Amino acid sequence: MKKVFILPLLLLSYNKGYSQQWSANTTPTYPELIAHLQQLDKQHREIRLYNMGPSDHGLPIYLCVVNGAKDSLKTFIKARNNTTILINNAIHAGEPDGVNASLLWLEQWIRAGKPTKSRDGKDDFPVIAFIPAYNVGGMMNRSSKSRANQNGPEAYGFRGSAKNLDLNRDFIKMDAVNSFTFARIFHALDPDIFIDNHVSNGADYPYTLTYISSMKERLAPTMQALTYESCIPILKDYCQIGNFELFPYVELKGATPESGIVAFNDLPRYAMGYTSLFHSLSFTVETHMLKAFPQRVQATLNFMNSMIAYAISHSQEIETARTAAKNWAKNQTSYAYNYQLDEKQVDQIRFKGYEAIYPEHPITGLKQLGYDQKQPYEKYIPYYNHYQAKDSSSVPKYYIVSGQEQAIIERLESNQIELTRITASSIKTIEVSSFIVKDFKAPSKPYEGHFKLQNLQVDKQLITLELKAGDILIACNQDKANFIHAVLQPLAEDSYLTWNFFDSYLQQKEYFSPYVFKEQIAEILNTQPKLKEAYEARKRLDLKFANDEWEQLYFIYQNSPYFEPSFMRLPVYEVY
Ligand SMILES: [Zn+2]
Repeated sequence: MKKVFILPLLLLSYNKGYSQQWSANTTPTYPELIAHLQQLDKQHREIRLYNMGPSDHGLPIYLCVVNGAKDSLKTFIKARNNTTILINNAIHAGEPDGVNASLLWLEQWIRAGKPTKSRDGKDDFPVIAFIPAYNVGGMMNRSSKSRANQNGPEAYGFRGSAKNLDLNRDFIKMDAVNSFTFARIFHALDPDIFIDNHVSNGADYPYTLTYISSMKERLAPTMQALTYESCIPILKDYCQIGNFELFPYVELKGATPESGIVAFNDLPRYAMGYTSLFHSLSFTVETHMLKAFPQRVQATLNFMNSMIAYAISHSQEIETARTAAKNWAKNQTSYAYNYQLDEKQVDQIRFKGYEAIYPEHPITGLKQLGYDQKQPYEKYIPYYNHYQAKDSSSVPKYYIVSGQEQAIIERLESNQIELTRITASSIKTIEVSSFIVKDFKAPSKPYEGHFKLQNLQVDKQLITLELKAGDILIACNQDKANFIHAVLQPLAEDSYLTWNFFDSYLQQKEYFSPYVFKEQIAEILNTQPKLKEAYEARKRLDLKFANDEWEQLYFIYQNSPYFEPSFMRLPVYEVY
């Protein structure tokens, strides 16, 4: 029943003042946007605009907080302790629907008398925080052309940041300073709900707005239930009242929707994949590029309103699920990764689409795919909505990261991971499990500034490690454990190893001169009988080896005390 009380309050519509401007086919420039919010900050003590830190452009990234406390310190404490929604806009600055929708929402809230309770007075309003525009460099790189297929606004920013990075791939590697600022914002708020606003490309269909929810298999059980059994069904109802239909993101399995759609694998590199590691109820909103900008903005606003209404009416349920999820993460004994789509388990979903057609193009002379809006259809299509983790690792008590890995320590600290630094007085030797890279491939072209490692094979070896001052110890029984495993388990999809943080260990630094070394092998083999046995066996069985002096010498070298122990050994260890 609660929704009936709440929605009329939130879905007020009006057409005066700024609302007209934000409802048109234009979106503000970054200076206009910030100047407007600074003005609201001056006029309303319930609306605060905070400079949260730099972007890779140089200009700051701001956070607008509505319904905070009296001062900034108390506001962030209130956010962490109460139900809080964080909305991220313009991470792709060519997709500014969320910018306008947030401005419209502010106008609407002010006109409604700045309510902080539900209409029946029973439930508290959440803290609502939004990043007015996250990709500042992209906002400053404005044109009317970079979104070739998009229906408005008249001018908009660019997808890439000042460093030409796609910031929505940067949440783990953190190449852009924006990502450090985001981490500061995110952990200062610890939001219960996170929304990342976008505009989609791809197939044509009637839905104005689609949503991506977190891959259910990766979620804590309570967050899985909250997302799929509570939040999404209720959001669908609320959106229906707001007169639009909510449908999952149309990620195609084949060439057209009729061959099926695939649930999105929200890896930690993406905004919502990152936020769901910390058990925020996370969504990406994708409005459809071919719908007019004002219509897309309205749909984005409707989604926001529906989510706020859900947060008001279900705050206790959300808080309980998140607390349980944090405890679950803390007490996990194994960590699963390398999720692959399970193509054998297929659901059916009722889909509204347009018939695919293949007319011959008058210029290219080729028959290419198009969608005929005059031929709408509604039918069940396959929905590939199940993933399976191909790998898992048992969770250690601690990880150790060697102190020289400053870039990693900086990233862990910016994510507020609890860690202990080894000091001169706490130095000791310790039995650890050590990761040895056995094989990997690097692609021939960079992806987001990296030659991200693939086809990794990693072995573990028990060794005695002598700790040094500056090394860090990370306990796994902490709330943010899922982030820790996602970056430190070397085979996890977005681990620091895959993102090239350890490339220097993948190159051998010393070699030998065969003409000198061959004089040493007799002594080595005599003192290492097991090696001698392995060497003789291989010589017998492997003809190429038997006829290749370099290969034989390298084999002995590699297994001798002369070989450098750091080669292929990661400066990350597990303590069980
Ligand atoms: Zn986007």
